[in-house]
Amino acid sequence: MFTAFGIPKKVSDFVTEVENEIGAQLEVYDEIAQHNIYKVLGAFKAAQISERHFGASTGYGYSDIGKKALGEVYAHAFGVQRAIVSPLVASGTHALTIALFGILRPLDVMLCVTGKPYDTLCGVIGIGENTPGSLADFAIKYQELPLNEEGDLDAKATLGELSVNSQIKMVYIQRSRGYERRNSLTIEQIERFIKQIKYLFPKVTVMVDNCYGEFCEHLEPTDVGADIIVGSLIKNPGGGIAPTGAYFAGNKSTVELIEGRLTAPGIGEEIGSYNSSYLPFFHGIYFSPNIVRGALKGVCLASAVFERLGYDVFPGYDAKRADITQTIGFKTKEELITFVRAIQKSSPVDAHVVPYPWEMPGYADKVIMAAGTFIGGGSIELSADAPIRKPYTAFMQGGLCYENIKLAVMTAVYDLQAL
Ligand SMILES: *Cc1c(COP(=O)(O)O)cnc(C)c1O
Repeated sequence: MFTAFGIPKKVSDFVTEVENEIGAQLEVYDEIAQHNIYKVLGAFKAAQISERHFGASTGYGYSDIGKKALGEVYAHAFGVQRAIVSPLVASGTHALTIALFGILRPLDVMLCVTGKPYDTLCGVIGIGENTPGSLADFAIKYQELPLNEEGDLDAKATLGELSVNSQIKMVYIQRSRGYERRNSLTIEQIERFIKQIKYLFPKVTVMVDNCYGEFCEHLEPTDVGADIIVGSLIKNPGGGIAPTGAYFAGNKSTVELIEGRLTAPGIGEEIGSYNSSYLPFFHGIYFSPNIVRGALKGVCLASAVFERLGYDVFPGYDAKRADITQTIGFKTKEELITFVRAIQKSSPVDAHVVPYPWEMPGYADKVIMAAGTFIGGGSIELSADAPIRKPYTAFMQGGLCYENIKLAVMTAVYDLQAL
């Protein structure tokens, strides 16, 4: 089968050999997936989902039962009092923006405790330059703390900041590494941190950017004390099926604050129609834990293969994974581009297209992206992106089925002439 894709036997044998060797590690993800599949199934049952919830709505969408029921499924799955799931939110960044503006008020301070946030958030917050309409433009202040030397959340430094500045209203955690080279944060780390913060400062809102993290572990940040999690539906929880949208899940009072910014204050989730079926959103969350399993296995294999070939991989194949991303470091820009192109070549859509670096809105450096996806830019699907800056690091993630990711790994090994 692999030779049909131009992969020599030497390469496919090598990757298969590595796959066999890491078998025990791959099985870890089966156990996590089983737990989360049952959790989501339980959520469907608890929300009493029926076919009538899949229907479309029009106009104001006042009696849109699909929208409400979808929120209930998410609320049960993430163990929260309330969740809003909306196809009308354009992206993860849009959702995080709505949440930040919903929760924070002028002169409040947002304290990000995971170093520099995801590139697109810099414009939202107004880091560096004061983007019109940013938090900074509304006199909402920003502070940042790096992770400590162990790559963990720095509770001591955070408590220090909180004790000298009563204007800090939000502690912000980005669970996934984004485009930074650092550990993604495990639920265990997040739990230990939040316990210490909430013990002394119970009123501070802990918000977690949960993008790429959903269903990678048994629990979500909201199960261990986070007030609110936010994520994109074209990543994990959409299961590769949801066509657009985002979710907010958390305690009632925090979600209500966000609701005031979602549409109009005082109206919130009561309006907003979707003149298309909600079926893909229900389908998506149902399949999500299983899709995440395949994605985790795929990046685990990629990590093991490229480590064996002497590349700088992060995290290692046997590390505990807190998100679906994998970084692979290359020596040159050319190698980096070859890798990203190999991913594109192995995709179901646009496999014949060659990606080039481009000036992507919201990103500081040129970015090259492989996204041969069914859903435009959907990164729960096999994708790789890399800002063209030193050290030349590719971020790969996703894949709707493990075997596809395996083929992509073989293609990259061959194209890089790494064997
Ligand atoms: C993808 C992502 C975002 C932003 O989501 P978009 O949908 O691309 O706007 C924010 N934070 C993290 C960690 C992400 O992975």
